[in-house]
Amino acid sequence: MEQTIKNMYQQMGISEGVFQFCEEILDGLTERFAEIDKTAEYNQMKVVKAMQNCKVSEACLLGTTGYGYNDLGRETLEAVYASIFHTEDALVRPQITCGTHALALALMSNLRPGDELLSPVGKPYDTLEEVIGIRPSKGSLREYGITYSQVDLLEDGSFDYENIKKAINEKTKLVTIQRSKGYQTRPTLSVARIGELISFIKGIKPDVICMVDNCYGEFVERLEPSDVGADMVVGSLIKNPGGGLAPIGGYIAGTKECVENAAFRLTSPGLGKEVGASLGVLKDFYQGLFLSPTVTAGALKGAIFAANIYEKLGFRVVPNSTESRHDIIQAVEFGKPEGVIAFCKGIQAAAPVDSFVTPEPWDMPGYDSPVIMAAGAFVAGSSIELSADGPIKPPYAVYFQGGLTYEHAKFGIMKTLQEVIDAGIASI
Ligand SMILES: *Cc1c(COP(=O)(O)O)cnc(C)c1O
Repeated sequence: MEQTIKNMYQQMGISEGVFQFCEEILDGLTERFAEIDKTAEYNQMKVVKAMQNCKVSEACLLGTTGYGYNDLGRETLEAVYASIFHTEDALVRPQITCGTHALALALMSNLRPGDELLSPVGKPYDTLEEVIGIRPSKGSLREYGITYSQVDLLEDGSFDYENIKKAINEKTKLVTIQRSKGYQTRPTLSVARIGELISFIKGIKPDVICMVDNCYGEFVERLEPSDVGADMVVGSLIKNPGGGLAPIGGYIAGTKECVENAAFRLTSPGLGKEVGASLGVLKDFYQGLFLSPTVTAGALKGAIFAANIYEKLGFRVVPNSTESRHDIIQAVEFGKPEGVIAFCKGIQAAAPVDSFVTPEPWDMPGYDSPVIMAAGAFVAGSSIELSADGPIKPPYAVYFQGGLTYEHAKFGIMKTLQEVIDAGIASI
């Protein structure tokens, strides 16, 4: 057989029709992809510059054990993060178990009983509902006497400035702004829009802490929320900034005081940042961060490719095929569970690991409806790797993200299309 790409895809279960359809879609995306490459180039230099300025050395790649006093690699890595995010300090630790933990840590350490937390961008990510106590939960902020108020986005996705102003009161201590849409079909916020919102809030109450849930947003733009006034940016290392190599971890970059509060809560009052052995993960943290701008770019291209395919087939896609991107997540609304399930089967079938298993919806902890998840990742649950998930509830939207390489993201999307076509959910 001829060594053509088409032949190779055929061997991977992609029909000629799906292949042709996808190639035609891609022909129209050259310019957008070039723009993404430019952002990756800029951010690659940003990361290298930070690593050089902070004098990352071979010794930094080694880890410590036990208490982890004087952990050069850990301290230097935190300086690198602070340099990239242009913040006073950062906490970057394998002891932060996931994104939810990083966010919970940032909130619990910077709020005190009697304080109020405000979300001016609507409902936060599902797992934060239990952190805040929107859904009753042991250990929530609510149990500690921290109240919560929320102002939804307006119908057209814009900020409800009037009600945000009304919601800010003498108790308001911290404002949480989620950059990415999460499991919602609202638009993701650009860094510029986050900046406008922060300016407005600080104009009313200058000393309020503005925190941004930066999950999935890192390196998508040239600026980060901390460049436009955020006091704290928080995220997961098994998403963008871990570059697919970090096996665990989370980060909080921000003002000295915010980061210090978080450190005293993560370890212990009195100990703070001084302890926390890095064990053997530092090399992967550094190398993953180094790769993150290009990995993120590949994932973005995959998302845009998916948007263009499914929009053409008549489904609602968020973001749509042409709008600018501020995170790596792509939502496709199928309107029925079968579409979500077929899409996830395609992603699973494209995986390098566990490609032979069939994903099924299940009642996952932290979520209020069954969720189907497809991933065959090198790092369990890593969603910078090619993955898709969706709650089985209206509007039956699937959320797709990741791909350590653009080529793999492309293949994954082609597989979803093949599954969707074969299931009779759409035709090309
Ligand atoms: C993934 C995510 C979280 C939670 O991160 P986990 O690592 O899954 O706990 C929080 N907020 C947003 C916007 C996310 O995308």
